[in-house]
Formats: sequence, C-alpha cells, structure tokens
Amino acid sequence: MRPDLFTSLILGPCSAETHSQVLQTAEGLQGLPLSYFRAGIWKPRTQPGAFEGIGDIGLEWLVDVRNTYGYKICTEVATAEHVKAVITHQIDMVWIGARSTVNPFTVQEIAEALQGSGIPVMVKNPVNPDLKLWIGAIERLERHDIKVIGAIHRGFSVYQKTKYRNNPHWQIAIDFKQERPDIPLIMDPSHIGGRAALIAPLAQQALDLHYDGLMIETHCDPSAALTDAKQQISPAELHDLFTALEPRSQSERIKHDLSELRDKLSIVDDALIELLQERMALSKQIGIFKRTHNTPILQVQRWEETLKTSVEKGLLSGLSQEFTEQFIKMLHEESIRIQLALLSDQPDAN
Ligand code: PEP
Ligand code: MN
Repeated sequence: MRPDLFTSLILGPCSAETHSQVLQTAEGLQGLPLSYFRAGIWKPRTQPGAFEGIGDIGLEWLVDVRNTYGYKICTEVATAEHVKAVITHQIDMVWIGARSTVNPFTVQEIAEALQGSGIPVMVKNPVNPDLKLWIGAIERLERHDIKVIGAIHRGFSVYQKTKYRNNPHWQIAIDFKQERPDIPLIMDPSHIGGRAALIAPLAQQALDLHYDGLMIETHCDPSAALTDAKQQISPAELHDLFTALEPRSQSERIKHDLSELRDKLSIVDDALIELLQERMALSKQIGIFKRTHNTPILQVQRWEETLKTSVEKGLLSGLSQEFTEQFIKMLHEESIRIQLALLSDQPDAN
C-alpha cells in the first residue's frame, strides 16, 4: 500500500486472547505502515457469559508487541480503573468504545481519569445514530485538556437485519466532518461490515470518502477468534487488501456515488424481504386461527377494503394506482395460497 493513502492505520485483534496469538498477529503485520497495534483487553459483550477479555495481563502482551516490533499500542478503556492500568503500562493511545460513548457519565469518568496523562484518545461513534452525542463526548474530553483526539466511525446498531452489522449512516459521518473538520475521522470497517467479505470494499470506500484512516480487526487464526470471529481477517489478507486499494480519479467519484446509492437500495430491499417474511408468517397464523374456528379463508368485503385502503395510501405517498394494486394483489394471492395449503393439511405451508 502507498503509505500516504491513510494517515492512521490501526490494526490488531478484536481481543487479546493469548500471548502467542497477540505476538503472532503482530508479526504478520510487519511491512504495513501501522500507526498503532490494537487489542481489546476488557471487552464489552452484549450478553454475559461470553469471553469478557483477558484483563490487565493483556497490557503486558501489548508492551511485548511494542518492544518486539516497535509498533505503538492501543486498547479500549471504559472505566477509570482501566485508565489507571493503561497509564501504568504507558500505553500509547486509547479508544472509547461505542457502548461507552453513549453514556455521558462514563465519558466523564474516563475524561477525568485521563486528564494530564497526555494520552491521545479516539472516540467511537455511539451505538445510536446521534451526532450530538458523539461530538458531545469529544467536547467532554476537550474540557479535560485532552488535546489529541480522533473519531472512529463504526456504524450504528440496527434491529432489522441489513447487509451491515452496524448501519453506517454515511450522512452522519459526512456531517461529522463538516462540524469537526479539525478532528481526524477514521473508519472501522470491521464493526460496520461484521463479516470478512465486506472489509475490503468498505476500506476502499473509506479511501473514496477521504477518511483519515482505518481501524481493522485482524487475527492470526480468524475462525478460532474468541470475539468477532466473522469479521476478523488474517494479516495475510490485510496485506492483500492494502495492495488492492486504489486511489480514485475524479470520474471514479461518480461511480462511487452511484454505488453508495445502490448500497442504500440494497438495505431497503433487505428490509422489504424481512417484512414480506413477517407478513407471510402472520398470514399463516391467521390461517391456523381460521381453520380452528372454521371460518372461510376469503372474506370478500375485508379484501376489497384492504385493497382500497392500500391504493389510497399508495396514491398519497406518490405510488401509482396500478403498481399498488398489483403488489397488494400478489401479496393477497400468496396469503391465500398459504392458508389453503394449511386446510389441505400440507405438512409445510410455506
Ligand atoms: C472493538 O473495537 O473491539 C469494539 C468493542 O468496538 P465497538 O465499541 O465499536 O463495538
Ligand atoms: Mn471487535
């Protein structure tokens, strides 16, 4: 990779798991223009009972990485205790995770603990799509005299399944750049994408959108990773990724804008499929109810009303009468098929 493409490159495993896993991963990154080697030591897990990080000993492994390979090292902090341990081990940089940025009390505690340490801080976006909260966390740090600050765009939690693990909401990143052009913005394709196949296209997108850097999770044996196994790639894959990154010309910009719009379209399509599945599951439930209560499947009056209301709503939203009519009729036909299949006792009325 041309070393000038990104200012900051933060690479390393999601979690420090063992001494050899950390060192072996670091070894594989030699030759890349790394700004920092990352590893999570205290892991904020969605559910209890999973691997919650190796704890303080992991800081010593990070120090070994620094001594062996000369990389600067960084980890996530979420409490004043973590900050204390990080200061003791002279860790070069810390980041605040998405689940901490969301809570002003936590950010306050971290800011107070970091004050005067001179340690640079990267602030991940909060889990919810709230630009003010993200910038607010940065301002809280600034009020505690923390001067070297960066921001990490890692996407936002979603309930419905989409192509991404965390919805990027590109507009928020663009607004962030506009509001705080002084703060370097780096992308975390690992947590946005949530799967290995999306890391390279997202990294290219980071380049196209002029992000200042990347934070990417890498593991010497991704499939055996204790956290975020699906999204970690091997150091060898990272080398390939950086070799394939292409600085874009102006005309490529147009292609990029188009692909961004297409990405948005795919998100809506995915949501539509989910909704259709939900609708058909409800039809089936209604079919079972009708069968139990011996009620006819087709109630013409109800069907006519449904069609009429949908067409009216469609017209109000700018959809043509013909399109809405055809679409609702197709849905209805499929519901009837499912309910009839139930009556004829077919084993799977899907
Ligand atoms: C991480 O970087 O490993 C992490 C926990 O990230 P996030 O706060 O973005 O979920
Ligand atoms: Mn992770």
